[in-house]
Amino acid sequence: MRAVDLIEAKRDGGAHSAAEIAWLVAAFTRGEVAAEQMSAWCMAVVFRGLSDEETDALCDAMVGSGEVVDLSPLGRRIVDKHSTGGVGDKTTLALAPLVAACGVPVAKMSGRGLSHTGGTLDKLEAIPGFRVGLSVAEMIDQVGRVGCAVVAQTAALAPADGALYALRDVTGTVPAPALIATSVMSKKLAAGADAILLDVKVGDGAFARDIETARELARLMRGIGARAGRPTICELTRMDEPLGCAVGNALEVDEAFAALRGEAPADFQELVLTSAARLLALSDLGIDAGEGRRLAEAALESGEAVAAAERWIEAQGGAPRAVAEPWAVMERAPVSIEVAAPRAGHVTRCSALAIGRAAMRLGAGRARKEDAIDHAVGVVALAKRGDEVGIGQPLAVVHARDVATAEAARDDVLAAFEIADGAVARESVLIETIG
Ligand code: URA
Repeated sequence: MRAVDLIEAKRDGGAHSAAEIAWLVAAFTRGEVAAEQMSAWCMAVVFRGLSDEETDALCDAMVGSGEVVDLSPLGRRIVDKHSTGGVGDKTTLALAPLVAACGVPVAKMSGRGLSHTGGTLDKLEAIPGFRVGLSVAEMIDQVGRVGCAVVAQTAALAPADGALYALRDVTGTVPAPALIATSVMSKKLAAGADAILLDVKVGDGAFARDIETARELARLMRGIGARAGRPTICELTRMDEPLGCAVGNALEVDEAFAALRGEAPADFQELVLTSAARLLALSDLGIDAGEGRRLAEAALESGEAVAAAERWIEAQGGAPRAVAEPWAVMERAPVSIEVAAPRAGHVTRCSALAIGRAAMRLGAGRARKEDAIDHAVGVVALAKRGDEVGIGQPLAVVHARDVATAEAARDDVLAAFEIADGAVARESVLIETIG
């Protein structure tokens, strides 16, 4: 087979056989298909799309490019959760110990942030000593002992996705639903969970900018999950403003652990509880989402969720005190300045994309994979859509390494807000659940 024939076929709207796709992915992973050819093929997919059969074949080939984790030693039905990425999305940090506190083991592999979106591993590394680089055997042992582990996805899982994503990121070929769906699901299938909850973000801070794209993404991912025998539920959630208030690694750890005490901003607290309920209903407890929600609320109330988080953080090398008193352990940014409302009125918009970009420029995120990040810096939004503000009232606080970067970020953060005369309704974070 020749890569150029497949590129031309897709460019002209043709369909590939499963064997052709398997060959393309395997040859690319071995380095026998050049980056420029694979990029051209991805661009053809952006314009022409993939059929469901081609999408399945691509996902199979990506899973088959590496190892598949065997979680059967845990002897339980293992549930996993994944977000398509957003701004202020610290859900895993609260959800993993909460679900563990309800008696369901969590063995989660996570990634790093790129561009304006954050990554769970970066957030966890804001806790001094926290170790994300566990082997699969260490992860399984830890889950057996303390109920929960969140670790870095090893390079051995779906390596074709790692190589392909790096190309897509620099060739404008990320936003093709079939490419996103296979990228997400190849990692989920390789990570070994029996059932999967996907948080599909919708809005200016997400890959899916509109609800139709998000629904198509959900349809594709659910189809891949179903055909692989892994029931998959999709929550479509709003990402046109940051989730919660905190954006930036240590700031997000603080807010995530507040959710374990029931003290997080309402949208984030709601998403944690809704997602916990869904995961518990997917587990082997034999309960529905309503009972799952009651269990999760009880674990918050009793303090068992905090205790589960303390056991988890300690097992991975962090100080358990990070859960109840995060700032006793984590570094605070040396400079913080308020961003004041230039007029009175109602906040109609607090753009996730603009806040995410401001946090990234402060050093909380990375433009390229190899960039270092500053765990302490970020932005805390104090007002969001639906809030009424007076002139001069703080809309947000910028946490920065120095005064110059703080001042620069102030303008970026201010530009994220729109304030109008008329009141607008606050919108629920959960748009719909599919599955
Ligand atoms: N998240 C992924 O893992 N892959 C994509 O392509 C987009 C979001």
